[in-house]
Amino acid sequence: EARSGDAGGRPRRRRVLVFPLPFQGHINPMLQLADALHDRGLAVTVLHTGFNAPDPACRPEFQFVPVPDGVPGDVAASGDVIGILNAMNAAMEAEDSAALRGVLASVIDDEEQPPVACIVFDSNLLAVPRAAAAVGVKTLVLRTASAACFRCFMAYPMLHQKGYLPPQESKMYMPVKELPPLRVKDLFFNSWTDQQKMSNLLTRGIEAVNNSSGLVINTFDALEPAELETIREELSVPMVLAPGPLHKLSSKSTGSGLLNEDYDCIKWLDKHPSKSVLYVSFGSLASLDTNEFLEVAWGLANSGHPFLWVVRQDSVRGLDGPSFPNGFEAAIEGRGKVIQWAPQQEVLAHGAVGGFWTHNGWNSTLESISEGVPMICRPQFADQMMNTRYVEKTWGVGFELEGDLERGKIEKAIRKLMEEREGAQIRERAKELKKKVADCLSTGGSSQIAIDQFVNHILSL
Ligand code: UDP
Repeated sequence: EARSGDAGGRPRRRRVLVFPLPFQGHINPMLQLADALHDRGLAVTVLHTGFNAPDPACRPEFQFVPVPDGVPGDVAASGDVIGILNAMNAAMEAEDSAALRGVLASVIDDEEQPPVACIVFDSNLLAVPRAAAAVGVKTLVLRTASAACFRCFMAYPMLHQKGYLPPQESKMYMPVKELPPLRVKDLFFNSWTDQQKMSNLLTRGIEAVNNSSGLVINTFDALEPAELETIREELSVPMVLAPGPLHKLSSKSTGSGLLNEDYDCIKWLDKHPSKSVLYVSFGSLASLDTNEFLEVAWGLANSGHPFLWVVRQDSVRGLDGPSFPNGFEAAIEGRGKVIQWAPQQEVLAHGAVGGFWTHNGWNSTLESISEGVPMICRPQFADQMMNTRYVEKTWGVGFELEGDLERGKIEKAIRKLMEEREGAQIRERAKELKKKVADCLSTGGSSQIAIDQFVNHILSL
């Protein structure tokens, strides 16, 4: 049955709807999870907003259905993630989620496709549970951040009660002893000024999980055992599964990039000795101010190491495009390469890459861990600070570059990672952790068991 795909010649009997949050770091893991479900014989329909819509050509085997997102053009163009998220949730929840309900109803009624088993939605899309309930579809939740991050969400009332929050300048380095190894400065919520709004969002997010048929977290058991155990104990949801790293779970390697990946950089990497290149990328959203950009450019140039640096068009705040300092190009000739967007998973898996200077978005962190690449960490917002803390303290596979970005400090950090004894020890631990990833993905490994459980659970709904 070509229409709904083909699982080794068998027709696909059930279909899963997936609804990612329209940001790169959320689209990737959701489509990777969908790939794994498709590999195991389920048909997939991707619901997507107009804002940051994925290219259906990236997954010809999936069906793509648009959902009106109600994000005004100026808000979309602003790049303000929270603003976009709020506008999207407000629009989708308007009039009792009528628009979303309508889309769901027509998708379910589509008799050309196999019957719908459930919808897997990104935990931030708070309009989904009510709309799904109205049309009688069971929900499952995907969390694209770490288990530690979700545990931290669950602890939000406690953090207030005990006075860790709202954060006070004088207490930033105070350990949160209930959530080791986090300190106040690592908590997610520091950048939120409106604590009441935050609290409402978190309460609803946790409610959505508790009312769902299951929670999937993009992590694996050996990486965050204590965090997963607490979540499993404290939630009242039929299953909490950790089948990550999701990008390693499917046989497919098709990307889901919103920007074009520059594959020339792989050929460029081919020309470099083993573990000699520093890969530098701050993900899809983080940016630098003009001075920081200058310091990074000179820090990289002066380090003497080969580097591959991802500079998006919107990497420098307040500028339409990055402007490199005079003399930079000559200084890095033959040794440094700047691209707009990388095929990151391939880059990290390349033998020439010996380090990753990252903002520690959770996907980048997992991708680096999966390939055993040690990290220099420069977190900016959201869960990035706590990811850095775990990288440095819990797993020991990287270190933070703290304080003002300054070229001399950057140079030193690069040398420490790429040349010095401490860097070698970090690299050794990264190699060990990579083995744990391989274990969880091997036959009978925890992530394989988890994804099989997930598929069986879906088929039982
Ligand atoms: N990514 C990529 N090319 C790049 C930079 C990033 O493909 O040049 C991908 C990366 O592999 C990851 C995602 O974009 O899957 C970024 O997600 P992450 O959670 O690391 O950070 P965010 O962009 O959400 O801050």
